Amino acid sequence: MTDVALEAHDDVTRVRLSSWQSRLAGYEVSVYLVRGMMIDSGFPSAAPDVVRLARERAVTGALITHHHEDHSGGAAALAAAGIALAIPPVVEAVVRAAAHVPLYRRVVWGTPSPLGSVTRAAATPGLELLPAPGHASDHHVVWDAERRTLFAGDLFLGVKVRVAHPEEDPRLLVQTLRRFAALEPVRVFDAHRGTVPNPAAALRLKADWIDELIANVDARIARGWSDQAIRRELLGREPFSSYVSRGEYGKTNFIAAIRQSAPASR
Ligand SMILES: [Zn+2]
Repeated sequence: MTDVALEAHDDVTRVRLSSWQSRLAGYEVSVYLVRGMMIDSGFPSAAPDVVRLARERAVTGALITHHHEDHSGGAAALAAAGIALAIPPVVEAVVRAAAHVPLYRRVVWGTPSPLGSVTRAAATPGLELLPAPGHASDHHVVWDAERRTLFAGDLFLGVKVRVAHPEEDPRLLVQTLRRFAALEPVRVFDAHRGTVPNPAAALRLKADWIDELIANVDARIARGWSDQAIRRELLGREPFSSYVSRGEYGKTNFIAAIRQSAPASR
């Protein structure tokens, strides 16, 4: 049973999606309706509600920011319902590869359906799907240049996010954050947090915070510290999510990701 809550923000509708399983884990995710399009597609178990909404609002297509199942989970159902998709080839490739989703994520979000044939969204008037790697290598954002509005997917999530997936690249994320801050967006819509106050400054603050963390981590790596020791010193104890996900979504991963993305180890 999906909880669907609509919020109006002028020309943008935020559709907040959650299930009791996701709320128990502390998660919700939003899709956005703007310019007749839908941005992202929600999680797999919300797919019937997302398709119903897309039909009710007569959306002409859905733009998918990245492969994570809370963003691409409704893509297969939307495509099957004949709704056009704007899905970057790199995202589509990962979605089609249908990598194994760990049990806790299937419990929280449901199990993704395989993507069948896709009708391509012809054009996305006023909306650009732009590469924004870091959170994941296939991560994109949607930029509305006329309204200086950034639909950030999982680019932001908060200034001091202390946990990471193993696939994240914090150094690349800093560059991406600065690139989109330089566009001076007047509005940023985060896929989990909704509207971000003082958006351009918030993107820069996050970049600054990660830069400082990277410098502190690099200094300890150079002194031979382990990931666990650096994590304890700089980020503290692992959060509950780390135990639930068996470490997949944890603080130690943030340290490991910084170590892996060090210029010397590339
Ligand atoms: Zn994500």
